[in-house]
Amino acid sequence: MPIYEYRCQQCRQVSSIFVRSINSPIAPACDACGSEDVERRMSTFAMGKTTGEVHDAHPMGSNTRDYYSDPRNIGRHVEESFARHGVDMPASVRESIDSARSGETPKGLDL
Ligand SMILES: [Zn+2]
Repeated sequence: MPIYEYRCQQCRQVSSIFVRSINSPIAPACDACGSEDVERRMSTFAMGKTTGEVHDAHPMGSNTRDYYSDPRNIGRHVEESFARHGVDMPASVRESIDSARSGETPKGLDL
């Protein structure tokens, strides 16, 4: 379900508006003061949030370039998929991720 964010031009509060579908008509209004003089915000998470908050909100890395520019995140989704399926990660995968995080180029593992 799409979520649109708007900033009120009157009181500067940001309102999040849930939209049933991309095509449904919306009449955004400020949650705080009710003004309809609002401005669409283009990005919901690239504006002033810390890296950690972005990762929490988007664990799969919606912005993969920034996400994987942090070596600590290399292989994170691999770890998560193993954990999700309740299986132990093979040692070879574990080593590849660890070496990648230490700055080496992973070999034979498509991260
Ligand atoms: Zn307002």
